[in-house]
Amino acid sequence: MTPTAQTVRSNLARVHERIADAGGDPASITVLAVTKGFGAEAPRAALDAGLTDLGENYAQELAGKAAQIGPAVPGPRWHFIGQLQSNKVRLVFDVVSCWQSVDRSSLVREIAKRAPGARILVQVNATGEPQKGGCEPGDVDGLVDLAREAGLVVDGLMTVGRDGDESATARAFADVAAQADALDLAVRSMGMTADLELAVRAGATMVRVGSALFGPRPAR
Ligand SMILES: *Cc1c(COP(=O)(O)O)cnc(C)c1O
Repeated sequence: MTPTAQTVRSNLARVHERIADAGGDPASITVLAVTKGFGAEAPRAALDAGLTDLGENYAQELAGKAAQIGPAVPGPRWHFIGQLQSNKVRLVFDVVSCWQSVDRSSLVREIAKRAPGARILVQVNATGEPQKGGCEPGDVDGLVDLAREAGLVVDGLMTVGRDGDESATARAFADVAAQADALDLAVRSMGMTADLELAVRAGATMVRVGSALFGPRPAR
């Protein structure tokens, strides 16, 4: 199934409605189009629909798609949103605009080495799920300091809700928003297709949306 620009445009209108219904301002909340699992036609359709911020989870897949798309005007601005091994940074440092899944010091050091001055978000595991990416909430301040000392620009915090648990997710989003406030960080990347309303209500400035824009992802 190939997403077209027309489909993405009408799906985006629906996402904007959902944001507005949750009390958010669609004009000031960035919709990050998550294109993982789709071919290069998905980022192309997103760009044609006016979405310039694109998200990918896997280094190899991002490198391939970025090469196929090339530079476009405006955008694309690629965001890395998946769990990232330090040794994969070298595959994508030249195309990533924002590293959203920074959750440990070794990754800070590798990004700072390959992409001096890069923009990052610190990912927080605010639901206590052991298999999930993100640093402990108590480690955020230290990681933000470390990243700044390494010359990186910390734009904000990113988090992922708890699948199928609305109250835990709402609590996690509220906690991360409060932590961003306390650190005076502008960007809160929270919420995906299933829980974007909860994120908007908690003060998300960016929602990361895949299936609501492109339809169900093909099996990996
Ligand atoms: C895949 C993914 C998304 C998008 O998920 P959808 O449910 O398709 O909207 C958002 N954020 C992260 C971190 C993801 O891995």
